[in-house]
Order: sequence, then C-alpha cells, then structure tokens
Amino acid sequence: MIPYGKQSISSEDVDAVSKALQDEFLTQGPRVSEFEERLADYLGVKSTVVVNSATSALHIACLALGVGPGDLVWTSAISFVASANAAKYCGADVDFVDIEPSTFNISAHSLGEKLAIAASSGQKLPKVVIPVSMAGQSPDMESIFALSQTYGFRIIEDNSHALGAEHLGVKVGGCQFSDISVFSFHPVKMITTGEGGACSTNNLALARRMERLRSHGITRSQEEMVSPRDIPYYYEQLELGYNYRITDFQCALGISQLKRLDEFVAVRNAIASSYSLKLDRNVLDLPFTSANNVSSFHLYIVRIKEEFQSIRDELFHYLRSLGIMVNLHYIPIYRHPYYWNTGLYSELDFPNAESYFRRAISLPIHPSLDDKEVDFVSNALMDYWSHARSKL
Ligand SMILES: *Cc1c(COP(=O)(O)O)cnc(C)c1O
Repeated sequence: MIPYGKQSISSEDVDAVSKALQDEFLTQGPRVSEFEERLADYLGVKSTVVVNSATSALHIACLALGVGPGDLVWTSAISFVASANAAKYCGADVDFVDIEPSTFNISAHSLGEKLAIAASSGQKLPKVVIPVSMAGQSPDMESIFALSQTYGFRIIEDNSHALGAEHLGVKVGGCQFSDISVFSFHPVKMITTGEGGACSTNNLALARRMERLRSHGITRSQEEMVSPRDIPYYYEQLELGYNYRITDFQCALGISQLKRLDEFVAVRNAIASSYSLKLDRNVLDLPFTSANNVSSFHLYIVRIKEEFQSIRDELFHYLRSLGIMVNLHYIPIYRHPYYWNTGLYSELDFPNAESYFRRAISLPIHPSLDDKEVDFVSNALMDYWSHARSKL
C-alpha cells in the first residue's frame, strides 16, 4: 500500500522522545518553550504558541482576535473543515470565497469582489479572513493584506500545509501580511508531533492571550492579574480558555523533526519534479507554483483535464485497487451537510471550487516515497488513461 502522506521517523527522533519520557516532566516541561523558540527562529517571527492541534490553534487564534457571536469569518471554499469550524466554535458565522483555478488558493480577486459587493450593499463585512496555503503554496498575501487595510479585517493564515515553504523569499509563517499564522503537526503534515499545532505572530499581546487561552484562560503573571498577590499558589482565570496544551515528549519529537524539515521540503520538491516529468500534460493539469513561492509540496494535486473529467472517480477506484491511496483534498466545505443544511450557500457562487472538486486527485507524496513508487504511481495513471481513452 502506498499512502498519500505519511510521517518519517528517524532513530534520532525516537531517541529524543525516549529521553523526554525519562525526564521529570511529561507535560509542561522545558521542551515546550524550547520548541516554541526554535520554531520562532526558523520562521523569523517574534513568538510562537504550540498547542495540541492546528484545530486548537485556529480556535485560539480566532478568540485572540475577538471573534464571537454575531461576527463573520470568511475562508477558502477549498480547505479542510477545521479552517471554517474554528470560527463556528466562537459562535461566529462563516462564509466562503472561491479559489484561484491555478493554485487552488483563495482568490484575492474574488475576495475583493465579494468585499466590494458586501460593502456597497450594506451587508456585514468579515472580522477575520482565513486564507489557506493549499498543498504547501502561499496565497497572494500582499493583495489580501491590501484588502484588509481597505475593509478593516484581520488575517489568520492557515499554513497547516506550508511549514518550510517560502513566499517572496521568506518563510511562510513570518506574518508579514497577517496577524497570526497556524501550523499543523499531524503525521501527514510537514513535520509531526503526533497530534500538534502552533500559532506564530509578531504581536506579543496576541501571543500572551493565546498562551492563556491554551490553558483555561489562567494567568500566573502578576502584571496580568486583576488583584495581584505575591503568593506561589495564587493564579487568576481571566477568561474562558481550554486545555489545548501539548506535552513535553511531543515537543521533543517536534524539535527533532524541525531539524529535518528542510530535507523534507527538498525531498518533496524532488518527488514533485519527478512526477512532472512522468505525467502526461495532455490528460492532466499538473501543479503550478507561482514564481513568488517555494512550495513545501505537502500535497501533489493533479486535475483531470476538463474534457476527461468524467473518468475521475473510476480512475480513483482503479488506483485504490492497486493499493495507491490517492485522495481528494478537499470536498468544498460548504458541501458538507453541517454547512449545506443551513441553506446559506449555493454551489453557483463557487464555480472554480466546483470544477476543482470534479477534477482533483491527490497523488502520494511524502519523504519516504521512493523512485520506484513514483514510477509505479505514474505508470498506473498513464496505463489507466490508455485503457480509458478508447471509451471516451
Ligand atoms: C490538517 C489541517 C488542519 C487541522 O490540523 P490538525 O492538527 O489535525 O487539527 C487545519 N487546516 C488545514 C488546511 C489542514 O490541512
């Protein structure tokens, strides 16, 4: 079986975790802040807050920006549901923006149009927009940032796919064009801590607030207390927070994996180049990377050409039958019953997301995928095509 994505665990990773397990603190030990510091250095950002998942990170990022009932949050029509759910946790309403056909990212052009229509018709404007770096490539953050200045929204980048990627020559997650950036350390993502995630920000007040929200809304800092008391047992809960803490031994894995990140990005890019030489561009639209970006290639997404899109599901079944665990990232979020049944959304508003949904297929890509497997996948795809074309 060839999975679409998979962790790579080295003996150094195992040793690091094993050492952490034998130390004094399993949960809030020294490796939590060490991981945060190393991640901040890597990203070139002032502060990071590590948590138990990217979903938690998105939730506390929304809360820290003041998202609550009655507010509106917009995100990309094509993403994992967590990008939208975070806003729902806060009691906010969610709307979606169509994607750019070439990158599958939120379209800055569609965003601009949707904002202009909302503003001119007196509708509510979003408090926060959550662009997603699909497959590992940053959206057009300069244009989205410019729109935020005009329309007064805040920006959370969902960079769950894009740790190690670059945009305009700097690492994604440096928050040049956003308030907060979020990462995932789920095993299929760029590095793993088992479950895990992080927020990065250059705004230290936001970082402090997210640190509190990660742990019940509690502070132990006298400067933050309402009635400071200089006694070791004393702490105050300032607002409603959660237990979104990550453990010390997970951070041991994170620190060790972070050392391997650049190698992971390089291997994934090499696999992507290899696919691009083997796959037939007459049948498939291959991934496009903007000249502004270095993609981390979390995913390698091809699209069946429009005129052949009717074979997509059959092709999907065929590849799965060979043990090639292709996938679809993602079903448009508004199509899930939880969102669809509100009656708020129409597929007619998202022509590019709909076309993507009919044509996309994620091929296997991960650091331990070897040349033979890349060949096997490419050949299987092209074999299927030579058999299918006779029927079209
Ligand atoms: C994986 C993913 C998440 C959620 O990550 P978890 O760490 O599993 O909570 C959120 N957004 C996107 C785009 C993702 O791919």
